Amino acid sequence: MPRLTKKIKEKVNNVLALLDEHYPTEDKCYLHYEKPYELLIATMLSAQCTDDRVNIVTKDLFKKYKSIEDFASADLKELEEDIHSTGFYHNKAKNIIAACRQLLTEHNGELPSDINELTALAGVGRKTANVVRTHIFHIPSIVVDTHVKRISNKLGLVNCDDPVKIEFELMKIFPQDHWGRYNTQVIAHGRSICKARRPDCENCFLAQDCDSYIKK
Ligand code: SF4
Repeated sequence: MPRLTKKIKEKVNNVLALLDEHYPTEDKCYLHYEKPYELLIATMLSAQCTDDRVNIVTKDLFKKYKSIEDFASADLKELEEDIHSTGFYHNKAKNIIAACRQLLTEHNGELPSDINELTALAGVGRKTANVVRTHIFHIPSIVVDTHVKRISNKLGLVNCDDPVKIEFELMKIFPQDHWGRYNTQVIAHGRSICKARRPDCENCFLAQDCDSYIKK
C-alpha cells in the first residue's frame, strides 16, 4: 500500500477537494429501490452489468416479487428468465433466492448491517455489503466498483487490482467522511471525463494529481 508520505497526503487532499468541488458531496445511489432488501438484490444484479440495465430489469422485477418471501420462494428457472438480461443470470438467481431464504431464517427478514453478517449471505461480497451499509445504514464504507478500481489506480492512490485490498488501502488514506461519497463522485468522473476507453485527460481537473497523466 502507498506509504502515508507527505506526497500521498497532499495528493489525497487535492483529489478529494477537487472531487467535492465538481461533484455532489452527498452519497448518491444510482440503483433504483424503495425497500432495503431491494437495494441488496439490485446490487447483486449489478455485477458485470450497468446500473441502467439493472434499473430497467428491477422496475418490473420488484412489481412481480413484492417481498423477501416472494424472492425466497421464487422458481429458479422463472427468476432466471426475469433477470436474464443482466448476465450471469443462473448464479444471480440462485444467490438471490438463497440470500433471501437466509434473511428469513437467520435475520427475521431484516437486512443486517454488520459486514460479516452481510458477506455471509449467498453471493454477497464486500462491494455489495458496502453498498448496503452506505445507503441503508449510513455506515462509512468504501464501495470499490470498476470505476473506483480503475481511477484510483490511474491517480496513483493505489497500485493493485484486488478490490478488497483497494478498499482497505483507501480506508487508510481517506478521512472517513469521504468514504461514502468517493464512490459516487468517482462514478460521475468515470462516466463524464475519465472514461474507460478514452479518458479525456486534457480536460480533466484531476490531471495535475494523476500519475497516469503525468507519466504520459
Ligand atoms: S488525468 Fe486522465 S487518466 Fe487521470 S483521472 Fe483525469 S481523465 Fe483519468
